[in-house]
Amino acid sequence: MQTTMIKRMSVLLVPAAILIATWFAIPYISLLPPARQELVTVAPYLVTALGMFLAVHFHRGRPFLALLVLILFYWCSRSHLSGEPAKVSLNGYYQAFVLLLPVDLALFSLMRERGVFSMAGRLRLVFLTVQALGALWLFRDHFVDILPYVARSYIRLPFLDSQLIPQTAMLTGSLCFIFIAVLAVRRQTPVDSGMLGALIAFFVACNWATSRDIHAAFCAAGALIITQSVLRDTYNMAFRDDLTGIPSRRALNESLQGLGRRYTVAMLDVDHFKRFNDTYGHDVGDQVLKMVARKMNNVGGGGRTYRYGGEEFTILFPGRRLSDALPHLEELRTTIAEYRLALRSSERPKDQRQGKGQRRGGGAAAYAAVTISIGVAECTEGTAKPAQVIKAADKALYRAKNRGRNQICS
Ligand code: GH3
Ligand code: MG
Ligand code: MG
Repeated sequence: MQTTMIKRMSVLLVPAAILIATWFAIPYISLLPPARQELVTVAPYLVTALGMFLAVHFHRGRPFLALLVLILFYWCSRSHLSGEPAKVSLNGYYQAFVLLLPVDLALFSLMRERGVFSMAGRLRLVFLTVQALGALWLFRDHFVDILPYVARSYIRLPFLDSQLIPQTAMLTGSLCFIFIAVLAVRRQTPVDSGMLGALIAFFVACNWATSRDIHAAFCAAGALIITQSVLRDTYNMAFRDDLTGIPSRRALNESLQGLGRRYTVAMLDVDHFKRFNDTYGHDVGDQVLKMVARKMNNVGGGGRTYRYGGEEFTILFPGRRLSDALPHLEELRTTIAEYRLALRSSERPKDQRQGKGQRRGGGAAAYAAVTISIGVAECTEGTAKPAQVIKAADKALYRAKNRGRNQICS
């Protein structure tokens, strides 16, 4: 349970590394020659331009919007914020951004990916324009009326009072942070973790809005986090299976090239999967594949999992003998066989005979049982080519099928 949580948190590693590196790099900016120091203030524009180019090229609308609002914030703060903290707090642009931008990032996280210049993408741009006009009207033209609400200290704590970010923005920002963090950990996508990293960078840039170096460096860091999320997302599209989230056959083919002289390959196939689809429907079939992939991800012995295609999966055990891998595969086989997939009432088979053998219980709860067959082969001295080892594992898989399924053959 704990290791699963740690694995899930690892999606936040790259954004966290960029933020920490930025923080430690800041003291070195003042050591640069003055002309170079000025370059730091241009960095957010350069990184954003690169990120936007990639986002447009790879049709990633959500990162594009995030980059857009972040660079607007940077541009606006460069042109409208003076050096004194007291003046910054009384600045309508500052208050508008610090309140609204976290909400925008949370909304972008929630949205589905619909591209940049598609109909949905253009509508989102219209929404941002309307929001910007509304904010201009409210925070510039009626700022005196709303200032007592947005910049007020609701809790008297010296630590909170010493921060530049007002308490209302701290509250809305924290709620947005929790919202995006939950999505990022649950969905495990680079774009969601990028939004979270960008939100933290934005908070730091806001709180140190009066320090040129910190402000510019963290705006650049936010843009960099979003930009790398576009690249990682694109990489995942090429090398990860969309349904199960595990590496795809293309990734397997790459891994096979880098294997050493000793390794073991297991081919897995869901038993009677077609019948499963026919009985419960394609959606339940998809659920089965996701469940199998989840269980496979926890296989021991250093096994690396891939979706080979359809309802077939592969596990590679680099550096392992067949006898080392077998106990882990046996554990996986029994874990899946003992698992009960809960079915909603709409998914239960109408025909009693059809569901026979796969349906357990009746009344309120109904469950489906899934089994897999496994074929294993090893390469011990680098004598066989990876394709030959896969073929041998495939043959062993068919022996397992012929011997009655739900078993391992080597
Ligand atoms: P066996 O026990 O011999 O392996 O029989 P089987 O029914 O599992 O094997 P078969 O190859 O006859 O059927 C595989 C089915 O998997 C056919 C195809 O429609 C289905 N399938 C392939 N990919 C997907 C997918 O992504 N989702 C769902 N729901 N079904 C899929
Ligand atoms: Mg098959
Ligand atoms: Mg099958």
